[in-house]
Amino acid sequence: MVLGALEAGGTKMVCAVGNEKGEIFEQVSIPTEAPAITVPKMISYFKEKKIEALGIGCFGPIDPDKKSETYGYITSTPKLAWADYNIVGAFEEAIGCPVGFDTDVNGSVLGEVTFGQARGKSSVIYITIGTGVGAGIYIEGKLLHGMLHPEAGHVLIQKRSDDTYGGKCPYHKTCLEGMAAGPALKERWGKDARLLKDKKEVWDLEAYYIAQALTNYILTLSPELIILGGGVMHQEQLFPLIRSYVKDMLNGYLKTEELKDLEHYIVPASLKDNQGIMGCLELGRRAVCEEQN
Ligand code: ADP
Ligand code: ZN
Repeated sequence: MVLGALEAGGTKMVCAVGNEKGEIFEQVSIPTEAPAITVPKMISYFKEKKIEALGIGCFGPIDPDKKSETYGYITSTPKLAWADYNIVGAFEEAIGCPVGFDTDVNGSVLGEVTFGQARGKSSVIYITIGTGVGAGIYIEGKLLHGMLHPEAGHVLIQKRSDDTYGGKCPYHKTCLEGMAAGPALKERWGKDARLLKDKKEVWDLEAYYIAQALTNYILTLSPELIILGGGVMHQEQLFPLIRSYVKDMLNGYLKTEELKDLEHYIVPASLKDNQGIMGCLELGRRAVCEEQN
């Protein structure tokens, strides 16, 4: 099956062609400008490749509810040119193939569950720490949507008593994204996160905040595996620090095999940063199956 995959982001649109095995044949990146400029470029790319279905993992908030009138829309995004934009409709109309649609992070967790280290698990969380923070949640074999879809990057966390930074989230100031995403690191420490590698205090505080969120996810969702990706998580020294804080925060309350072995419970992404686009291939494959049923 020739499947198209689109990882729609606020700065770039990654378009790829692959198959149902998660193999990627080719991939291009198109800068995210207004829909009138960017969408026709993507449509002509996918048309030329004769794709049989398309999977879109999209920045949000989006409407993933098939019963809703605005299914397939990007809804209240701060990227104003894309607010209330029917992205699924645009591709369905132009290409005429089945289109699967979910959040970018649900795409990533689906990639890991279908093709990566989370195969065989039924409850997995994927968290990206990059320009923003987001979480894809796969619980008991299903991508979680609920009322809308989780926005777990915006969970509220407790500020450490010595931290004077005011937070960067326009909605909640000091939520996880406001305290721990790349732009917050840059504003707090005065340099891009990539240039802060040797500053121990940066990663200790970062791990403290990420661990609070993970502890809350563990307590509310009971995942079997937690995967951390995104640009900031390329700082590998974060992993042992995060595991150690999670252990302290849980304080022995839960006794499971997973929590005895945090090194294999809180892990980096396994698909070389292709988890998102591979998940979109699976969203495309699933759209074909749904159409046949
Ligand atoms: P996006 O979230 O836009 O899809 P990324 O996941 O690459 O893209 O996140 C970009 C953010 O991550 C930027 O704020 C950048 O400073 C930060 N970042 C990217 N690479 C690294 C790195 N190696 N170390 C620390 N921070 C990084
Ligand atoms: Zn927030």
